[in-house]
Amino acid sequence: MFSTAAHPHKRVGIAIGDHILPLTVMSELSLFRDERLNGDIFGRGSLNDFMALGKAVWDSGRADIQTALSVGGYFDTAEAIGRYFVPQREATMHLPAHIGDYTDFYSSKEHATNVGTMFRDPNNALLPNWLHLPVAYHGRASSVVLSGTSIKRPLGQTNPTDAPSPTFGPSKLMDFELEMGFFIGSGNELGEPIPVESAADHIFGLVLVNDWSARDIQKWEYQPLGPFLAKNLGTTISPWVVPLAALEPFRVDGPVQEPEPLPYLQTNGRHAYNIHLEVAIQSQQMDAPQVVCRSNHKHLYWNMSQQVAHHTITGCNLRPGDLLASGTISGPTADSYGSLLELTWRGSKPIPLADGSERRFLQDGDTVILTAYAQGDGYRIGFGEARGTIV
Ligand code: MN
Repeated sequence: MFSTAAHPHKRVGIAIGDHILPLTVMSELSLFRDERLNGDIFGRGSLNDFMALGKAVWDSGRADIQTALSVGGYFDTAEAIGRYFVPQREATMHLPAHIGDYTDFYSSKEHATNVGTMFRDPNNALLPNWLHLPVAYHGRASSVVLSGTSIKRPLGQTNPTDAPSPTFGPSKLMDFELEMGFFIGSGNELGEPIPVESAADHIFGLVLVNDWSARDIQKWEYQPLGPFLAKNLGTTISPWVVPLAALEPFRVDGPVQEPEPLPYLQTNGRHAYNIHLEVAIQSQQMDAPQVVCRSNHKHLYWNMSQQVAHHTITGCNLRPGDLLASGTISGPTADSYGSLLELTWRGSKPIPLADGSERRFLQDGDTVILTAYAQGDGYRIGFGEARGTIV
């Protein structure tokens, strides 16, 4: 979703190089074969109505866009590009969807193992349920914000020394979490689970997610019901939604799941995606961002189809625009951990920054930038960035 000074009404667009093709233009020119796409559906302020139309319509529309952008297609002239395309630098981006509900999973075995090792028992790092179901909690949708939105350091209760009573003040242990999220396209009726075999048909596309976390607040509050205030202070997403269909060439085998999941969670074939992920930090004193983590979406133990099937097995209804995030995506090596908690091992191994300082957790003025891409043969699919500054 974007707008410009000359055209302040929000429109759906797709990124082509450093330009944007407004899909409202495609509609006005009646370039879609499906008449439902030639009305005002791309000018309604969010992607939700388009998401609700379902996979067959997304695929049809995507093919029409590819035709129009191909050699000999409608936009295959400098004149057409000049008339219809918008330079990205002129655009203001907006949240791509009205997000009714947000769920955050905990689907990286490496991340869960690291956290379990630090906070519980290295010999029993994973809780007994972890290998049997994709653990998650219902998050806060109202504070999902677009890349570029500043994040206020939260106030809260902490009890760093396990004293008899807590203290109150600004969080001292602010962290990022490297995640990817996906938007639900078509949903399901209350009481009707989505089977794991068809779950991917309900996935519209992916964005980057930074699940900002106040670790000291989290440590004191999280038992027995899980995270609450430590996570609801803001969640940053990237503005560009990459359709799942565009990621088809990047499917790879996921981790071996042992023990075998229960039948309602069993998937066959390649359900992991080879998407390179990076996190960079830039302090106020630094001239350029410094990469502190390189990971990959393919490390996730539980795949997106399993997450959808598990989420709905009770009959819980997902709706167009719902956001389901992966959980922190940590890889197997120490430079692939997706949070400062793990990268600095609870602060015991600070990261040296280019400005001469070091980081255990985030300081005021620090900007965190998540980026991602899928590398094809001669082309690259970028995800843009999810950026935010702690203030
Ligand atoms: Mn998270």
